[in-house]
Amino acid sequence: MSAFKAVVIEKTDAGQTVGICSFDEADLMDGDVTIRVSHSTLNYKDGLAITGKAPVVRRFPMIPGVDLVGTVEASSNPAFKPGDAVLLNGWGLGETHLGAYAEKVRVKGDWLIPLPQGLTPRQAMAIGTAGYTAMLCLMALERHGLRPERGPAIVTGAVGGVGSVAVALLAKAGWHVIASTGRPGEADYLKNLGAAEILDRSELTGPARPLAKERWAAGVDTVGSTTLANVLSMTKYGGAIAACGLAGGMDLPTTVAPFILRNVALLGVDSVMAPKALRLEAWNRIAHELDHDKLAAMTSTIPLDRVLEAGKDIVEGRIKGRVVVEIG
Ligand code: NDP
Repeated sequence: MSAFKAVVIEKTDAGQTVGICSFDEADLMDGDVTIRVSHSTLNYKDGLAITGKAPVVRRFPMIPGVDLVGTVEASSNPAFKPGDAVLLNGWGLGETHLGAYAEKVRVKGDWLIPLPQGLTPRQAMAIGTAGYTAMLCLMALERHGLRPERGPAIVTGAVGGVGSVAVALLAKAGWHVIASTGRPGEADYLKNLGAAEILDRSELTGPARPLAKERWAAGVDTVGSTTLANVLSMTKYGGAIAACGLAGGMDLPTTVAPFILRNVALLGVDSVMAPKALRLEAWNRIAHELDHDKLAAMTSTIPLDRVLEAGKDIVEGRIKGRVVVEIG
């Protein structure tokens, strides 16, 4: 295969163009492992890359796609051999390095982990960066010493990808989960994933008071902006919020009041450059703790040809749960 099918973003004087075309293997970037991609997925960041809504793409041409599962075709890295099933999340894939929406990738072996035992390629991509980030958030809350006995946990952007997995993981770990959403019609979906209560997103979108009534001990925030400010102002004494997203905006119009008067902690969570040991721990835990039926209930599947349209949908908040992209 010297040419293969890929989604390609080009930069022109008029802006960016994106389309599905034939890409020459000779133009792949440096790396010591070449992989035949079987599945990828759709994350919010992939939507930003496809639409150009935010400058996540750092070189052109770019093949977007931050997540992949595939089979090693060639390797000069001693840790991998042809035929190995591998998983990659982040490390700049689809941003600075040619990414996953392609039949073939060439990457650094150091970025890869083996496909976790107990997960099929499709399940691993149903989880994807969104699900692995939800687990990093749970782990951050636990590292902070928080346990379900301390009170409820809120998840914002609950119908989205990170949110759906966070609801399922927190509920499984014993938390009373309050799922915040702008889609009240999805209440049954969220309850089936394990949410105990549904909170309308509008309760968190107005300007935040420095401190408000204490409602939860922990939280996973995928929205940022006034939503995170309100969530912090309603966090119980000694609680913590794991912040991983900006679906509602990058700003944070808050005061120091929750931090200095209620001992609240804001825990930053990044998945892209997370060290390998943390990734392995997170994936091992997801493989064992995420209910496979719940994962299936939150997942839909599309072919590569539909990813451009789905990329627009995710940045406009129209995607429910997780989307697997079938490639090879
Ligand atoms: P999705 O689009 O699937 O989910 C985002 C959800 O946020 C939507 O479903 C919606 O939930 C809610 N939302 C969207 N727009 C607004 C708005 N204007 N105001 C309030 N709520 C809104 O995206 P993902 O789950 O893939 O990603 C969520 C966020 O997490 C993104 O910002 C993404 O960049 C970030 N992220 C960060 C990572 C990291 O490493 N830190 C890794 C992965 C993701 P509902 O309909 O329920 O209201």
